[in-house]
Amino acid sequence: MEKTWDVIIAGAGIIGVSLALELHARGAQVMVLDRGEPGREASSAAAGMLAPAAPETPVPLRPLAFESASLYPDFVRKLEDASGIQVDLRRQGTISFLPVSEPPPHHLELSTEELHRLEPAVHPAAGTPYFVQEDSVDPRLLMQAALAAARKQEIPIHGNAEVTAMRRNGERVEVIVGWTRHIARAAVNCRGAWAGQPARPRKGQMLSLRPRQPDLLQHSVVAPDVYLVPRSSGRILIGATVEDAGYDHTVEPHVIHQLHRAAAQLIPDLGSLPVEESWAGLRPGSPDDLPLLGETDTPGVFIATGHFRNGILLAPVTARIIANLITGRQAGTDISAFSPARFITRR
Ligand SMILES: Cc1cc2nc3c(=O)[nH]c(=O)nc-3n(C[C@H](O)[C@H](O)[C@H](O)COP(=O)(O)OP(=O)(O)OC[C@H]3O[C@@H](n4cnc5c(N)ncnc54)[C@H](O)[C@@H]3O)c2cc1C
Repeated sequence: MEKTWDVIIAGAGIIGVSLALELHARGAQVMVLDRGEPGREASSAAAGMLAPAAPETPVPLRPLAFESASLYPDFVRKLEDASGIQVDLRRQGTISFLPVSEPPPHHLELSTEELHRLEPAVHPAAGTPYFVQEDSVDPRLLMQAALAAARKQEIPIHGNAEVTAMRRNGERVEVIVGWTRHIARAAVNCRGAWAGQPARPRKGQMLSLRPRQPDLLQHSVVAPDVYLVPRSSGRILIGATVEDAGYDHTVEPHVIHQLHRAAAQLIPDLGSLPVEESWAGLRPGSPDDLPLLGETDTPGVFIATGHFRNGILLAPVTARIIANLITGRQAGTDISAFSPARFITRR
């Protein structure tokens, strides 16, 4: 007799693995399949800002983003407890130099003296500074913690397992990997930028520096053409481009140079440092920059992708919503703006 899983998840990024952990905690038998090495795509390339109040967060996404931000401390605590891996949740807040006609919610204008007191290394001429109480995590550590937590709970997560189809067969769903057919009550497409139409890749290039003075920067700093995110190790991440470049992970030296130069305009001390690491990742975009959350037009097949610039932030709320839907409950949050049906064109 073929094993029937309760849920099979395609894609072992932060969205797929967080969902697997949530479903497992509710008693479901879950398996996760990834085309490559689990956790190595967008979720390990992110900066890790948890920024629901950012001016570029689309308005319809804000309630979901704030809800997920409120779930984060508990989400992190559970992952750290289950895995033994600390994920560097930092709660110092962000200094934003983004030009705004009116301060958005949660933005507090700072005087030059206040800016200097908070961040002496930051150049005061960068624009009007605002303080925003936002957190950050290290997404690589978060991803490692999520995978380790899943492993400890014996949730199978298989790499090198490319899902080529998820289709209905009677009362069940078939998930196809090569010549193998897996059977489940439900399946979820968490394949990020590879989730298929209308999801699409939005490339982001980043770099990191390691200043000699490990406490040079305490807050994340956001400006129009660059942002800086400090880690407790002293490392500073600098990002990021948003490009439509297909499935291309190439890191371009001139782009890294431009980001480095923009960072040095904010903190002159950074200009002379060598680049520690540079990389590119593919965010899962969608035509309206909003996620796709819910059941597709194939009953029993769900989708959770399109998180674009906020997938790290949105992981806990996404896991809760999709687990609610799969277990036959209400989403628990208004997700009408994220329905996958909005992209289905009726002929
Ligand atoms: C440079 C950069 C900076 C970012 N900064 C932030 C930030 O500060 N804050 C924030 O919240 N978000 C940020 N993001 C966005 C965030 O990284 C993503 O939204 C999030 O990681 C998406 O997670 P995911 O699990 O959907 O995708 P991924 O992590 O890409 O995972 C998808 C997985 O699906 C697998 N897969 C693909 N095809 C198949 C298949 N056919 N079968 C099985 N598996 C498959 C892939 O191998 C991959 O492992 C950033 C992204 C980038 C690139």
